[in-house]
Amino acid sequence: MKKRRRIYEGKAKILYEGPEPGTLVQFFKDDATAYNKQKHDIIDGKGVLNNRISEHIFQSMTKIGIPNHFIRRMNMREQLIKEVEIIPVEVIVRNIAAGTLCQRLGLTEGEVLPRSIIEFCYKKDELNDPLVAEEHITAFGWASPQEIDDIMALAIRVNDFLSGLFLGIGIQLVDFKIELGRHWENDAMRIIVADEISPDSCRLWDIKTQEKMDKDRFRRDLGGLVDAYKEVANRLGIMQESEPPRGKGPVLVSDNDKAKD
Ligand code: 5GP
Repeated sequence: MKKRRRIYEGKAKILYEGPEPGTLVQFFKDDATAYNKQKHDIIDGKGVLNNRISEHIFQSMTKIGIPNHFIRRMNMREQLIKEVEIIPVEVIVRNIAAGTLCQRLGLTEGEVLPRSIIEFCYKKDELNDPLVAEEHITAFGWASPQEIDDIMALAIRVNDFLSGLFLGIGIQLVDFKIELGRHWENDAMRIIVADEISPDSCRLWDIKTQEKMDKDRFRRDLGGLVDAYKEVANRLGIMQESEPPRGKGPVLVSDNDKAKD
């Protein structure tokens, strides 16, 4: 088997060089981390589920014209994506108070926010991805004011789309995080949605029971993470009961390149 160059290894995914220039292979690991890696576990089957759920969401976004990096799923754990220059800012959209917003502002979890709130965090593990303002983003040149406008417009479109998608299957979209990248086609650059959208990066609550169906099951030691992700996949109609999410998938041959951080 031909060796593939590893471009980047993150907490839950690995990026390999793709088969054609301008493409990458995104591999979904079973690793679950929280509180900046202070908590770590391997959850058998999580990567397979996130690959499928993220595929479904990105394909649906393509259908409605939300630009993104997804090309096609390759196998149980891998998808082919467009190579982008990642903007070092995580964009969080919140509809209901939860997580760090409650910690910061003393809100009660579950409070419906007066309107959707967009937040920015600087992507820097060593610093615990701190919350930043637009001022920091433009002053340090992470993105231009025009790019911030484009990012916010995209974030709102993604929120509208995801809220509707999940509402239709009895799930409340509490909040989510997206990452964006610059993509060049010929000489034109545009900002597109990158990374993944899955229960690892969204807070999803069952509308009837308020049961958590996302990574908070791991963060808060609630157990049942794979079953919750499976339920999300089943409701989205993308994984049949007969299809086991567990299993390693194809064996990767990787080199010993030190991953860039
Ligand atoms: P919070 O700031 O409340 O911890 O997170 C807000 C939302 O963004 C949650 O849906 C959470 O899953 C997502 N999020 C924030 N930071 C990260 C991150 O570093 N990785 C992932 N996968 N999701 C994140």
